[in-house]
Amino acid sequence: MKVVFFSTQPYDKSFFDRHNERFGFTLEYYETALNEKTVNLLGHTDAVCVFVNDQVNRNVLEQLSKKNINIVALRCAGFNNVDLHAAKALNITLVRVPAYSPYAVAEHTVAMIMTLNRKIHKAYNRVREQNFSLNGLLGFDLNGKTVGIIGTGTIGQVFSQIMTGFGCRVLAYDIHPDPKLSARGVQYASLQELFAQADIISLHCPLNDSTRYLINKETIALMKNGVMLINTSRGALIDTRAVIHALKSGKIGSLGIDVYEQEEHIFFHDLSDQIVKDDTIMRLSSFPNALITSHQGFFTHEALTQIASTTLINLKQLNEGKRCGNEITSQG
Ligand code: NAD
Repeated sequence: MKVVFFSTQPYDKSFFDRHNERFGFTLEYYETALNEKTVNLLGHTDAVCVFVNDQVNRNVLEQLSKKNINIVALRCAGFNNVDLHAAKALNITLVRVPAYSPYAVAEHTVAMIMTLNRKIHKAYNRVREQNFSLNGLLGFDLNGKTVGIIGTGTIGQVFSQIMTGFGCRVLAYDIHPDPKLSARGVQYASLQELFAQADIISLHCPLNDSTRYLINKETIALMKNGVMLINTSRGALIDTRAVIHALKSGKIGSLGIDVYEQEEHIFFHDLSDQIVKDDTIMRLSSFPNALITSHQGFFTHEALTQIASTTLINLKQLNEGKRCGNEITSQG
């Protein structure tokens, strides 16, 4: 079986090559993202393997279908970049890695909270400049604070457990509340209650038509003054312009984002010798109380191991004509 990878980074190649020793597939790696232009690079292959910022829209799927490529393997959990209806109509099978170390993303979320609260990003630079002053570094105890979690699936659950361990009160909103979490002390509430009561709000729901711009001018107005907002899920869950406005006014006290709605041309690339043309990300970077990481929540040894192993097992099952439990259907 031949598989062509898009958006490949050196670490993808190293993990996939190592795991492929068990499978013996022919793996070809392209650094470029999959889109309407780069799809034309493809010659004969049985499948393509894509990541979060590859464009798997109707046009791309039609081109794949014309080339008799009927398998798209996502090496990630989210699939908001895929036109599910077009894939179904074209009989293209989509598979993904639904769960891989939820600890990776949940722990990164906590790292962002701790950094923003105790201003570690500022302290690190200060001490290196022999500035040992504490002025401006004041934080708050997490113990006793209310954390609002939107989306209590695999990652949200792990995150809720960690925050409970800190002594936080955990409020949650999910369209499918999980009774197991209620038994562990998580209180489900309406979105309005969560926005009104949470000192820290963390997003762990998928991006879809009902969650796009969930955080917007109106919902920000419902939040506590000085709230901390964390997004390690998908960029377009928040209206970045509304968030910038709220950072300027002080309504949002601090912001941590591992994802950004226009991230596809920026994240995962070294642009340090270029002029970045995206004024929004540059404005965000200028706030001392905003912390941006470049979609690295998933980036642990354990997660990359599971991603490579599950993706190759998915491909093996499809190659052998078997049903794959990780297939994405248009129902999700
Ligand atoms: P999951 O499917 O296990 O959980 C998602 C939860 O969101 C479910 O409980 C679902 O009921 C809930 N939900 C769906 N629609 C909702 C809505 N409108 N309002 C509130 N809740 C809603 O997914 P997961 O594995 O926990 O991942 C969550 C998200 O994290 C993914 O969608 C993905 O976008 C993101 N993610 C980010 C990284 C990263 O590196 N930063 C890595 C993996 C996943």
